[in-house]
Amino acid sequence: MSDFAARAAGWLSAHAPTDGSAELADAKRFQAELYDAGFAGITWPTQYGGQGLSMTEQLTFSGIAQKYDLPTYPFIIGMGMCGPTLLDLGTDEQKTRYIKPLLRGEEIWCQLFSEPGAGSDVASLQARAVRDGDDWVLNGQKVWTTNAQFRRFRCGAGAYGCRQAPKHSGLTMFVVDMHAPGVNVRPLRVMMTGTRRSTRFSSRTYTFPVMR
Ligand SMILES: Cc1cc2nc3c(=O)[nH]c(=O)nc-3n(C[C@H](O)[C@H](O)[C@H](O)COP(=O)(O)OP(=O)(O)OC[C@H]3O[C@@H](n4cnc5c(N)ncnc54)[C@H](O)[C@@H]3O)c2cc1C
Repeated sequence: MSDFAARAAGWLSAHAPTDGSAELADAKRFQAELYDAGFAGITWPTQYGGQGLSMTEQLTFSGIAQKYDLPTYPFIIGMGMCGPTLLDLGTDEQKTRYIKPLLRGEEIWCQLFSEPGAGSDVASLQARAVRDGDDWVLNGQKVWTTNAQFRRFRCGAGAYGCRQAPKHSGLTMFVVDMHAPGVNVRPLRVMMTGTRRSTRFSSRTYTFPVMR
């Protein structure tokens, strides 16, 4: 067993929750511990807060972690979509600002593409972004936003900055603070039961390596 595997196995057996479900505060505490122990963002670049290790270490960790039911569900959109997109397309300033708090579970991300009239055909979305000095003013409605109730930031917030452009080329992706004035989040209720989605997490491990 490699030193990394031995370290991962030892850490998980000592720290992994055993009861299989956690409240958000517990999930955030566990994610911070996972990060501080060097097991979050394993293949992500060190200059932005990742561990800078290889896919071998990532797969080793994922293999060992599969034995546990880690409360990582709140972070899947950030780890799986928003973070890798920021690493690929973000500015140095954005990566320096957002990646480490994302990996450490201090800030939770959600992704806002879908709209009531735009799902598979996301390019038919109606959200608009209008430049106002150094700012952009976004107007629109999004739906089906996984984890929107826990979020600090959202990525994707697809909106047309330039409506004159052909359908698939006027889209812009924004990082938006979901705590900003004017952002309202309402729960989707299950049609049959009227219930909202549970806030207790019981999820299989999700780890998202950055493919280089
Ligand atoms: C549990 C869950 C979580 C989600 N989380 C998020 C999230 O975090 N962020 C987000 O932005 N969205 C999220 N979504 C929304 C998801 O991305 C959309 O449901 C998906 O894109 C499909 O869009 P729609 O539901 O509007 O269905 P539609 O696009 O209306 O599709 C309805 C049916 O028509 C079929 N169809 C559509 N277009 C065509 C075509 N051209 N040719 C043939 N068949 C077609 C589809 O396959 C489907 O069977 C989530 C959805 C679910 C169910």
